[in-house]
Amino acid sequence: MRKILSSIAIASLLIAPTFSAHAQTNAIRTVTEVAKDIYRFQNNFHYSLVVITGEGAVVTDPINADAAEWIKSEVAKLTDKPITHLIYSHSHDDHASGGAVLTEDAEVIAQANAPAKIDGVTPTLRFDDTHEFSQGDKTFELTWLGPGHGEDLIAVVVRPGNVAFITDAASPKRLPWRNMGGANIDDWTNQVRKIDSLDFDIFAPAHGMVGDKSDVAEVIVYMEELKAEVLAGLKAGKSTTELQTDITMSDYKDWQQYDVWLTENIAGMAGFLASSGQFEAN
Ligand SMILES: [Zn+2]
Repeated sequence: MRKILSSIAIASLLIAPTFSAHAQTNAIRTVTEVAKDIYRFQNNFHYSLVVITGEGAVVTDPINADAAEWIKSEVAKLTDKPITHLIYSHSHDDHASGGAVLTEDAEVIAQANAPAKIDGVTPTLRFDDTHEFSQGDKTFELTWLGPGHGEDLIAVVVRPGNVAFITDAASPKRLPWRNMGGANIDDWTNQVRKIDSLDFDIFAPAHGMVGDKSDVAEVIVYMEELKAEVLAGLKAGKSTTELQTDITMSDYKDWQQYDVWLTENIAGMAGFLASSGQFEAN
């Protein structure tokens, strides 16, 4: 994992404080090569994957309009060929906004459940379960992860390099997001199991740090242990507040967001178990 360039762009220092639409940009931005010609682009807490082939660039999530402009300008430093494909990991707007500047010459790929337009961009290719294509010396394997975190979430595996771009459902050694947004958490866990069924080596998430394939199984165990502990506590008559005090999940204390999101994970799981009929207070 060679950090080839790191442009921590503090735009407020680079451009005069005009009233430009981009004047609010104060983003932490880095570009890291995770495998040969496979780059991870960081915009603050969001990451996207960019793959350079002899024929052009394959870009995943645009993140937002400012980030997409930056991605476009960085891609131009890596290749003089066009962006040939834009792949949406899913349609949630914190990952999928601003794609229009990247789609001039590109096939736009989304899972079949994505909306007709994603921030104004119409996908030109939709797929149900899997879609595979090659570009130059690289092959891209896209897999729908089923419902859970969203209805249109996919994994992107790039070969050679065997890098998986995984958004939101799981990140290496990092707790799931807050209260998991009211999702069906059993379905969400099945999305992580689906990721675990894929063949790859490098786990490049859209949030947090790069890991490897073994990190996926750890997330499954976390989800299963969280469910078991919350269910046991509910059956023992505990309130959500008591669960948040009593359940420590201490094996995971070194994971990212443990200090801030564990209590929300517990509340989200308790709410899900009640709403899905897996626990009824008596
Ligand atoms: Zn999402």
